[in-house]
Amino acid sequence: MPNPKRKHTPHRRDCRRSANSKLDMPNLSKCSNCGAVKLPHKICHECGFYNGKLIMPKKVKKSAESVESSDKRGSINNDNRS
Ligand SMILES: [Zn+2]
Repeated sequence: MPNPKRKHTPHRRDCRRSANSKLDMPNLSKCSNCGAVKLPHKICHECGFYNGKLIMPKKVKKSAESVESSDKRGSINNDNRS
């Protein structure tokens, strides 16, 4: 029974594995309403439009809350430093 003469080096092994592990970029399309890059057959996350119709109106309240919470986090971090 023929056997390999030498063990493959870690570099050779890693090169072989990395050649098959590269992820493909998803297909991207532009939103017909705002022109933002989005996934095809999905609602645009920028404006909430799909196929020229408003499906998901953009929420303004949530973003204001997130800004407030981030400010609180920043103040907490500052307190910890001092
Ligand atoms: Zn859009």
